[in-house]
Amino acid sequence: MSEEPDVVVVGAGVAGGALATVLARGGLDVLVLEKSLVHRDRVRGEFMAPWGVAEASQLGILDLLAAAGAHYTVRSVPYREGLDPEAARTRAFDLGAMLPGVAGALNMGHPRLCEVLDAAAQAAGAALLRGVLDLAVEVGERPQVTFTHDGRRREVAPRLVVGADGRGSAVARQVGARAETDPVHHIMAGLLVEGAEAWPEGDQTMGTHGEATLYVFPQGGGRARLYLNHGLGERRRFAGPEAAQNFLAAFRVPSLPHGEALAAARPAGPCHGYPNADSWVDVPVAPGVVLVGDAAGHNDPTIGQGLSITLRDVRLVSEVLLGGDWERGAFAPYVEERRERMRRLRFAGRLVSALNAEFTEEARQRRLRAWGRIAADPTMALPMVAMWKGPHGLPPHIFEQGAWDRLLG
Ligand SMILES: Cc1cc2nc3c(=O)[nH]c(=O)nc-3n(C[C@H](O)[C@H](O)[C@H](O)COP(=O)(O)OP(=O)(O)OC[C@H]3O[C@@H](n4cnc5c(N)ncnc54)[C@H](O)[C@@H]3O)c2cc1C
Repeated sequence: MSEEPDVVVVGAGVAGGALATVLARGGLDVLVLEKSLVHRDRVRGEFMAPWGVAEASQLGILDLLAAAGAHYTVRSVPYREGLDPEAARTRAFDLGAMLPGVAGALNMGHPRLCEVLDAAAQAAGAALLRGVLDLAVEVGERPQVTFTHDGRRREVAPRLVVGADGRGSAVARQVGARAETDPVHHIMAGLLVEGAEAWPEGDQTMGTHGEATLYVFPQGGGRARLYLNHGLGERRRFAGPEAAQNFLAAFRVPSLPHGEALAAARPAGPCHGYPNADSWVDVPVAPGVVLVGDAAGHNDPTIGQGLSITLRDVRLVSEVLLGGDWERGAFAPYVEERRERMRRLRFAGRLVSALNAEFTEEARQRRLRAWGRIAADPTMALPMVAMWKGPHGLPPHIFEQGAWDRLLG
């Protein structure tokens, strides 16, 4: 391990593992510092939208994920209350037709995704230290990182520090990056299950059924990542020893086919809930430091964009570094692009939350009206299509108030 590496990456999650792989392959001396000893299921993103798959392909890491058993979903079926399941299937979105050369959405366990990327980073020559504690970053032309590893206090002075340490980033806090946060709208809970072979492996779904928004993302071999949104009035709905069983029982609804089989599936991880709120950092850079992935602010998980956002961050930042311009100003295009990208996705997240994750009778009526409007004019669904195609390839006006009013007004 060099004491003056080119780059220190803090966090060996998706952002850190992918960035270290790409930079080390490009010939840079990279040190990755990770707090945990092993990656565990913390209920994180396991569905990668087609536009994230395109980013993975451009980064040269898609083959690794395929070799590690990544599973594609090719249809998104809008099962929801008030719509016959057969009719829902006729309205399915073809995920394989969203972007050229992209087979669909990619589904894979989050700990496995991190392990695969960390192994690739090491194979490419990056050094990875796990079990790193009490990390402190000092900004500057030659930033300093101090940390404890194996009981010893150590210090390194890289050319650049990348904060890839996820939600509640210590690096972001220490370098004074100011995060703004939306009010919490609902809770999103998740659980990984096994034994869900009855669910068709190529189909995913997201829709409102009674007092919950239900999501199913199959991962192949009978595994599926399930998520569920519920209102703030029921904060303890999935707390205590019965949490997983209560969570699964919510999938037993007539408007969701195979709901019975999902309700009978075996929990294969923890059942946790998170406030949905979007959080963003307008300036994810400081002297000698740049933030990527959730450390730079996270989108509302309701629309499942975090992995794709993260891989685009990694691509944009790695292009700057491998291009050889390490001045702070070189990150300005990344900062600008990310600000607008997150603004658009924040709009999409708020819209989908208002549409799908409010559970009063008034909200139900508004939802029915909105689906009727989309049936009459499918362009009204474009802010939602951004979830699959990515926010950058669509016209800016669909992320403005007018689009909201036409759909939900
Ligand atoms: C409930 C929920 C559902 C979601 N669903 C989806 C989805 O379906 N699709 C999608 O694309 N996204 C989803 N996301 C978002 C997605 O999980 C994240 O955007 C993505 O994991 C971000 O990757 P990251 O590498 O930035 O952070 P993480 O994956 O959180 O990795 C951060 C790493 O940094 C390490 N670390 C933290 N602090 C330190 C420290 N001080 N020192 C050293 N290391 C540290 C951590 O141990 C971890 O390994 C969801 C998120 C939630 C909460």
